[in-house]
Amino acid sequence: MQNLLDLDADSLIAWFAERGEKPFRARQILRWIHRFGETDFDAMTDVAKSLRAQLKESACVIAPVPVRDNVSSDGTRKWLMDVGNGNAVETVYIPESTRGTLCISSQAGCALDCAFCSTGKQGFNRNLSAAEIIGQLWLANRLLGAEPNGERLISNVVMMGMGEPLANFDAVVAALRLMLDDHAYGLSRRRVTVSTSGIVPAIDRLREECPVALAVSLHAPNDALRDTLVPINRKYPLKQLLAACNRYLERAPRDFITFEYIMLEGVNDSDQHLRQLIDIAREVPCKYNLIPFNPFPQSGFRRSAAPVVRRFSQLLNEAGIVTTTRKTRGDDVDAACGQLAGQVLDRTRRTQKRVLPVKEVRE
Ligand code: SAH
Ligand code: SF4
Repeated sequence: MQNLLDLDADSLIAWFAERGEKPFRARQILRWIHRFGETDFDAMTDVAKSLRAQLKESACVIAPVPVRDNVSSDGTRKWLMDVGNGNAVETVYIPESTRGTLCISSQAGCALDCAFCSTGKQGFNRNLSAAEIIGQLWLANRLLGAEPNGERLISNVVMMGMGEPLANFDAVVAALRLMLDDHAYGLSRRRVTVSTSGIVPAIDRLREECPVALAVSLHAPNDALRDTLVPINRKYPLKQLLAACNRYLERAPRDFITFEYIMLEGVNDSDQHLRQLIDIAREVPCKYNLIPFNPFPQSGFRRSAAPVVRRFSQLLNEAGIVTTTRKTRGDDVDAACGQLAGQVLDRTRRTQKRVLPVKEVRE
């Protein structure tokens, strides 16, 4: 059985061609599934009966199953989606006056182990399929009660949920293409953002294959500190990362990179760090998005005090660098950045390593 949610437009056209069907059939089906949310082939009334019968035999439309649905006092809504074998990922809808943003997960867990991230602390289980990634948008539209021709509730998508999107490249790109496709969700490239911790070769591939808005989790303005906070930096240090950002901008839908910067008290919030951030902005056209750290049990970090965050923002803005501070949304339902924990059965044995460091070394 082919889950049609796994196929972007080109793959669906190819799948139909193998069955002797024309491309317009594929586009029709794409619209039924993604725009109208239809899963029942019999309801696709403008599709020939013989084709409907064939589809019933060989295809299905299966999205992740929501197992929890929490609404925060600020309207933020968080779903826990079951992705099988004891794993669950989280999807968050953030309504604002001028837009609605859906924050989507790309992996069950994350292998990159950033020091301040609760997803990373849980370890890694597996990549999500394209169906499980786009299925979060498909399902959110249904659960929010979106009307096919009504007002668009979800205008923006950010790949900032659980996982490192660029470590699950093919499935993420298939899902991004569906987000952008006029027969599916028709979102603007500028309103779809991939957030990465900085996997340099994959940034280059994204530029070639599906350039969308790019956010980079900077979090430290020098290699010594970034090596400890964002361990992928040891493989792709800042110089390489910043060069990749400049290459990306040659094809990006926006003329700046968003650098995300978690504010950690006494760790990355000194005047020296501020000066280094200003130097980085001279190398790469960018905006800074300061993120007050969201604590979780045993994180070992504290959020920088509000006046420190305000001062960073003010001085960066005065230096001519557009800087915003991310509002904490949905923290009463643990839906704020970095609090997404879902449920991950770690297959890297990292969680065991933490509990038994001595034994692990002897092994
Ligand atoms: N793996 C990708 C995307 C998922 S994380 C990445 O790292 O960019 C989305 C954002 O939340 C990243 O900027 C990440 O660094 C940030 N984040 C992680 N833990 C956080 C925490 N405890 N508080 C605030 N932001 C956090
Ligand atoms: Fe993974 Fe991103 Fe968390 Fe780092 S911050 S562990 S890359 S999800």
